[in-house]
Amino acid sequence: MFDKEKKLHKFPCFVDTHMHLISLGIKLLTHDLEKEDLKELLEKEKELLFARGWEDMPPLDLINSYSYPVVLIRKCGHIAIVNDHTKKKLKLKDNIIYESDMEKLYEVFDLSFYKKALKVAEKEMLKVGVSYIHTDDLHGITYDELVSVLKDAKIRIYEKLAVKDPKKEMFEKISDRVTVGAIKLFADGSIGARTAYVKKPYKDTGKKGMFLLKENEIEKIFEFGKENGVEVCVHIIGDRAMEIMADYFERYPGNRVIHAQLVPKEVLPKLKKTHFSIQPHFYIEDKESGLLDIIDTDSMVYPFLELYRKGYDISFSTDAPVSPHDPRYVIEKAMMMGFSRQDAIKLYTKGSQDFCYYEKEDILQNYPVAIEFSDGEFFEL
Ligand SMILES: [Zn+2]
Repeated sequence: MFDKEKKLHKFPCFVDTHMHLISLGIKLLTHDLEKEDLKELLEKEKELLFARGWEDMPPLDLINSYSYPVVLIRKCGHIAIVNDHTKKKLKLKDNIIYESDMEKLYEVFDLSFYKKALKVAEKEMLKVGVSYIHTDDLHGITYDELVSVLKDAKIRIYEKLAVKDPKKEMFEKISDRVTVGAIKLFADGSIGARTAYVKKPYKDTGKKGMFLLKENEIEKIFEFGKENGVEVCVHIIGDRAMEIMADYFERYPGNRVIHAQLVPKEVLPKLKKTHFSIQPHFYIEDKESGLLDIIDTDSMVYPFLELYRKGYDISFSTDAPVSPHDPRYVIEKAMMMGFSRQDAIKLYTKGSQDFCYYEKEDILQNYPVAIEFSDGEFFEL
């Protein structure tokens, strides 16, 4: 229980500028293949097995020997494998599903499950001291369903809608804490799935990944954003994707790049008025897993510190549930990359409107016991 007599340390709460709140909830409510054994889960579940976290694709034979829906998503979230039962039920063309086709997989859940996922996830975020999140959740449900899920959120939310045909009325404040304020586009995929769009082929596949947008639709969306005061946020990982997109960011200032893992040096001047939501831990994770070794590039590689030192506008984020949702994890990895502790904390609390109360002065060494929202609500954890 929160002890008001105790001397506590008041500090701005963390702001996570890129994550997937509902997916985090789904991950918490479903299974994690990084921690659980697939064979055991297949035996245990009888109605549905929805799990995420594999790195090497599980064999199709194995999951096809079970006659209930099985959906297994890779750690990166860009590729999945389903058994024949699911394929039939969701009318899929193949057992292996990529990128935007994966949206369909979430149709195995109903709306009450999404509401539960939001509650579980926001509780987890508040517990680690994050009171404000920029999140991307329009996956597997309609816009109206999403609004009905988000409107009861306690945590402060800035929603980025993954839509290609935005309507003006979609972007609004839906409660005191929740604003739908941005459009999220995916220019490419991930390095793990070899779908990030790169200039030189991957050393192992000899392919260059994929560009997921059409030039005329990009223009249309940036124009829409400009006309309606809606921010455009683009997932960009590969250097070729960044090269294509940089021209738009130059012509449409005030928008956002998410990830920026491979950036050609020559395009940097075009990105002066662009915001970057970056994930320092991706550098450490990808280096340790050997993923960096399959990239052949002359571009800047995970240039987060360089962007910061050159005065680019960057902020930190987890991209949870791809990686852990605790800011302390990101800050630790940022310091390994060369960010100072002070800068790392600054980049993670930028724009915070709320306060967290800690027992220990070092906010990286403990979790808050309460959150005070700027509207006066006091929330005990
Ligand atoms: Zn993401």
